[in-house]
Amino acid sequence: MIRAILFDLDGTLMDHRAAADAAITAWVAGRSPGHPRLAEAPALWLELEERHLASWHRGEASWQEQRRRRIRALCDDLDLDVPGDLDAAFASYGERYREGWVPYPDAPAITELAGDYRLGVLTNGGNDFQRAKMRAIGLAGLGPVLSGDVLGGQFKPAPGCYLNAAAELGLEPGEILLVGDDLTNDVTAPAATGMRSIWLDRLGAEPVPEGFPRITTLTALPQYLSGHSDLG
Ligand SMILES: [Mg+2]
Repeated sequence: MIRAILFDLDGTLMDHRAAADAAITAWVAGRSPGHPRLAEAPALWLELEERHLASWHRGEASWQEQRRRRIRALCDDLDLDVPGDLDAAFASYGERYREGWVPYPDAPAITELAGDYRLGVLTNGGNDFQRAKMRAIGLAGLGPVLSGDVLGGQFKPAPGCYLNAAAELGLEPGEILLVGDDLTNDVTAPAATGMRSIWLDRLGAEPVPEGFPRITTLTALPQYLSGHSDLG
């Protein structure tokens, strides 16, 4: 029986990609008006984000240091002058990024589930940062924000992340349902620990990978749960 539902945050409750793409485009344009490779900035930033957040997950760089490395690498790649104060440079990007902290239109619907389940978040971002996001998108009251840095340094898709999250809630993994947009982190890896999972496929991928419960909008979740008694 499912007693708790954990949601991924970025790409699930908030459109992190849209916010980051817009912010880094504005940041580069601000430093170098008319930059000929401006259109490449979002994809480059995404690649740097994945690479350097992974180094933070592995404990090889602090939260702040991975930010500095991303700014420095971006500037190197785009032939921009590397800022003398990398922290201030990231902060000016961060101000723009925060302007994009809005919930997906379907995200508030999940609060309807609070009467039947304990709710919360399981995310790979920094805990303070992700809690600030939850406040900004109006979901601070949803439930605990669990993240790798408060789960013994275990980040998705490490099995310990899901097991520690379950222990934090005082539940067995099989009593928890994880809902998120990442097929590995939010669907297949938790399933390997006994946690239940549903893939939020916002883009409507074709062909659909077989064997995974899938919804395309969070508003479909309550109906999905009531129609699948094995999950409810
Ligand atoms: Mg996600």
